[in-house]
Amino acid sequence: MDELQKQLTRKPSLVWDVIPTDEKNKAFEFANAYKTFLNASKTEREAVKTIKDIAVRNGFTDIDVPSSGNGRYFKVFRNKCIALAVTGNKPLSEGVHIVASHLDSPRLDLKQNPLYEDVDLAFFKTHYYGGIRKYQWLARPLAVYGKIFTADGTEIDLKIGDSPDDPVFTIADLLPHLSRRLQDQKKLSEVFEGEKLNLIIGSLPIGNTDLKERFKLGMLHYLHTTYGIQEEDFVSAEIEIVPAGQAKDIGFDRGLIGAYGQDDRICAFTALKAITQVSNPRLTGVALFVDKEEIGSEGNTGAKSRFLEDFISDILIKTKTDFSERTLRKCLLNSFALSADVNAAIDPDFQEVHEKRNAARLGYGICITKFTGSGGKSGANDANAEYLGKIRRIFNENNVVWQTGQLGKVDQGGGGTIAKFLAVYGMEIVDCGPAILAMHSPFEISSKPDVYMTYKAYTAFFNATF
Ligand code: MN
Ligand code: MN
Repeated sequence: MDELQKQLTRKPSLVWDVIPTDEKNKAFEFANAYKTFLNASKTEREAVKTIKDIAVRNGFTDIDVPSSGNGRYFKVFRNKCIALAVTGNKPLSEGVHIVASHLDSPRLDLKQNPLYEDVDLAFFKTHYYGGIRKYQWLARPLAVYGKIFTADGTEIDLKIGDSPDDPVFTIADLLPHLSRRLQDQKKLSEVFEGEKLNLIIGSLPIGNTDLKERFKLGMLHYLHTTYGIQEEDFVSAEIEIVPAGQAKDIGFDRGLIGAYGQDDRICAFTALKAITQVSNPRLTGVALFVDKEEIGSEGNTGAKSRFLEDFISDILIKTKTDFSERTLRKCLLNSFALSADVNAAIDPDFQEVHEKRNAARLGYGICITKFTGSGGKSGANDANAEYLGKIRRIFNENNVVWQTGQLGKVDQGGGGTIAKFLAVYGMEIVDCGPAILAMHSPFEISSKPDVYMTYKAYTAFFNATF
């Protein structure tokens, strides 16, 4: 009967239990490269730069440069999204393999008139981006990244808070001694207000005491002498506030990684590593890295834009395929995609939000999520069984440790990914990425063997014979 049970039942495997020692070592080495990537990629713009650099070092050329023609291409769009391709042996009309991840993460953006002073301190007003738990952004060191375009069009890069000698910024929290009446009896959703997420940026006045707004002026003076900017320049700026600090190993045994932005740069990095190591695949491989997933994939750099179509068109022309709208449609229609995004691992302290038979666990490999959405699969991409059969087969054939997952109990909540925006082309697509703890927090937690298995999974996918 033991044999029968072994034969007929499926039990997810803990990666550590099933991989040989040399792969364990590889998983640890891989994690080091991943942490370096995270530290260099705190925002979507920084991530695009990092990905482009790594692509160039791996022989990828800009698809928009006419002379390039080695079958390994990249395209950067508006400095916020990027795609890489390795051309395959089959014609593009038979489809491509796409691994699509997103580069944006929840954060605080500056408003257009951000600078003010109050009670002898200078501040920036912020507007949060994506789903955050507001209290997590209080009383912690924060870094400032972004771009400012001055009146004459000069481009200024801001990047302060992550170098060892840099100052940091912060949002003060209320002391417990005085929170009793104002906060402690209230509902969590009412306690923390978006309008109170004001960033402390300075405290030195300028000029004499009868000057008005001399703290604000002190900041403007500093910004002008350092960067040459004036107050109106904030109107043509994009400045993002992110947690300061580096990606770290967690635990005495260093098996986990803690860092900001792992949703979804964990999939971006593993997809990047996978595509750079692919050569001569059957179908052309495409790693797509988009922006704006956290606010609904809107805008010209999000998954709802036509960037993917444009990139595929470029490849069609580059490979001298007869270009027509029909060829482009056929390529997209016949494609296979992984929506490379994270799922929630069972939270040890809040197990009641998960249904344990179907929830993902940290350390059990890459997670296949058939459907997303909420409350009766509303807004879901629901992957086809035929396709799941193919995915499962290549993972098993390539010793990829995998599990399945869902985002919480039925009726508990939920969420979506970019999968449904690519599904409109008719291509097969399923959500597939590692499970993480404390998702959307300033310090998300992943498991090293899961990161490694995600890389193995995406590699197997690019090399698949379907
Ligand atoms: Mn995500
Ligand atoms: Mn997210």
